[in-house]
Amino acid sequence: MATDRMLLVEEAQKIVLDSVSALGIERISLSQTLGRVLAENVAPNYDIPPHNNSSVDGYAVQAEDTQHASEQMPCRLTVLEEIPAGAVPIHQVVQGKSSRIMTGAILPDGADAVVMVENTVQEDGFVQILKPVRPSQNVRYQGEDVKKGQMVLSTGTELGPGEIGLLASFQRSFVSVRRQPTVSILSTGDEVVDVDDVLTPGKIVNSNSYSLAALVREAGGRPVSLGIARDTEDDIRSAIQSALHADVILSTGGVSVGDYDFVKKVIQDLGAEMKLWRVQMKPGKPLAFGLLQGKPFFGLPGNPVSCMVSFLLFARTAIRKMTGFAPSQWPLPTITAILTNDLTGGGDRRQYLRARIIYQNGQFLASTVSGQGSGMLSSMSGTNGLVVVETGLTSIAEGSPVSVLLMRPAW
Ligand code: AMP
Ligand code: MG
Repeated sequence: MATDRMLLVEEAQKIVLDSVSALGIERISLSQTLGRVLAENVAPNYDIPPHNNSSVDGYAVQAEDTQHASEQMPCRLTVLEEIPAGAVPIHQVVQGKSSRIMTGAILPDGADAVVMVENTVQEDGFVQILKPVRPSQNVRYQGEDVKKGQMVLSTGTELGPGEIGLLASFQRSFVSVRRQPTVSILSTGDEVVDVDDVLTPGKIVNSNSYSLAALVREAGGRPVSLGIARDTEDDIRSAIQSALHADVILSTGGVSVGDYDFVKKVIQDLGAEMKLWRVQMKPGKPLAFGLLQGKPFFGLPGNPVSCMVSFLLFARTAIRKMTGFAPSQWPLPTITAILTNDLTGGGDRRQYLRARIIYQNGQFLASTVSGQGSGMLSSMSGTNGLVVVETGLTSIAEGSPVSVLLMRPAW
């Protein structure tokens, strides 16, 4: 049963995180894996690179032969063959001999170094070496990158371009990853119309479904927008029932104490196990969270900024856990930044002020924007951070270090 006490953000986050767990595993094509979370430990079935090979275009030699070579006194070696990349050498390199070799081609037996072509003069059937090489010089050894069986990618790793390239080099055309949660998004409100509808007096456009869908995608989930429910119990009930096919359900609006705020009543009537109602934060505060048929249900506030910030602090965190990310990647990253403007007036709730964060001369700078009302959506545009102002603080001076949640990168 949810407590009536207004919970601290951390308390509410813990309740949310304790209520969800990582989803199941699916096998998908490597080309679809960007941003997905690996659900297996992966090692190659062979050494990488698979052969000793040359890192330059030049001549494969025995280094000892070149010891005394110089521009004035070149050493002259017979050329046995030419080894292009992809070919298999036929001849063994022995004393006094060499083979022309291209970058990436297999190093022939007997050779222990490669002279760069820039340090040679080609002759018919011979080569003049103008500079000595050390043993191993310009040779890439079999397995020097990754050894057969070496576990270099582990469960929980987020797959970026580098990891995907590595998996390709292991010939892993299919990979096991965590399933991404599908997230139903339901807006509520008699005043809310959709982007293409006629905006008659008293109506406002449904921005929440769009900002939420984008936030869900950024968090690693798959949004499914279910449109707008009217402010009646029946409409909200049937909309929520149709949302239950998803792994997570988000609603916006109707969770406050207004006469038409039916969301909490409906989800309780539907048998939801309520976990929390209100959180001590601004923007935000009304936040209904519970488990509805075992699925996490977030009744987010209707005010556009409160809706987005509540999503970022709670629903995003849950989605990240469900997607299989490591715990350090569940919350937004926190940084310390230097305020570039004065802040006045704290309050009885912790504030999350929208700010533009840049990295300059080795430190982060935070500039809060002027319109901080919870309905002022322009404050979420061009900003990438939330400056955290604890309760009770009356003012913070320009130049003070502040704690910032990064919504998006600052570089
Ligand atoms: P409510 O929580 O339903 O009282 O809504 C709070 C405020 O958010 C009201 O001013 C609503 O008009 C506004 N609002 C509610 N839903 C949306 C929505 N989907 N998009 C934009 N604004 C909304
Ligand atoms: Mg409403």
